[in-house]
Amino acid sequence: MLDVKAKKKFGQNFLKDESVLIKIIESMPKNKNHLVEIGPGLGDLTKKLVKYKDVTAYEVDRDLYAILRVEFAKELETEKFDLILTDVLKVWENGSSLYKSRYDLVANLPYYIATNIILKAFDDVNCEHIIVMVQKEVADKFVASVGDKEFSSLGVISELLCVETKVLIKVPPESFSPPPKVDSSVIYLQKDMTKSIDDKFKAFLKVVFTQPRKTLVRNLSARYEKSIVVELFKELNIKELARPHEVSASLYSQIYNKLTK
Ligand code: SAM
Repeated sequence: MLDVKAKKKFGQNFLKDESVLIKIIESMPKNKNHLVEIGPGLGDLTKKLVKYKDVTAYEVDRDLYAILRVEFAKELETEKFDLILTDVLKVWENGSSLYKSRYDLVANLPYYIATNIILKAFDDVNCEHIIVMVQKEVADKFVASVGDKEFSSLGVISELLCVETKVLIKVPPESFSPPPKVDSSVIYLQKDMTKSIDDKFKAFLKVVFTQPRKTLVRNLSARYEKSIVVELFKELNIKELARPHEVSASLYSQIYNKLTK
């Protein structure tokens, strides 16, 4: 592959570790879904993906786009590969899906917008599986379970929306060029396609986790009548001193439904 200077502003850390690339490919679900890649970069992962299925990729960097058009000329010609020059978040902002029918998202994400991308992919009705490289701390939040100190609004959302969430592989900085300053993990999230979450529930979770180490009653009382919150906790058998990470996703659904009824 060409030697190109990575641009920090686009979160460019190119994955060079063949064993990680292979592990990502091996972990992909065996289904008929289309593949979408965000940020193909220099195309190392893309090369493997197009051998397996048809791919649609979104790249924001004009220089990389030009390189990829040459590198994948044959696949573009045969329509095995579609390459779109754009900021992927703009596609979602315009209300579009990243693909016209069911797809799986496989990518080494730009870390500066990784959380946002996963949340948008959760909302995208055509996206079923999300297999992405992200900063380790972000990965831990998406797969956290109730009681884990990392359990936050991201863990609640993924528990309510997914049938499976797991860390596939931990990846050290040396696996990339240039190496990022943080450790990375590849996560696997499989959505339950019958479920969705509305923005009001997400706003409620912001209140829940305003001060993650304070009690949940305290956080909720900033928005709702304290006596009602305390009464509800008794009814649902939740300890009055419970912290936000100690309450399960399904209990949060119940609390939300009762408080906003
Ligand atoms: N897939 C390549 C690899 O694994 O080596 C590159 C991964 S690099 C971490 C992130 C890629 O996302 C870069 O190619 C970068 O230009 C691209 N990118 C950054 N922001 C983007 C955006 N908003 N929309 C689409 N692509 C973006």
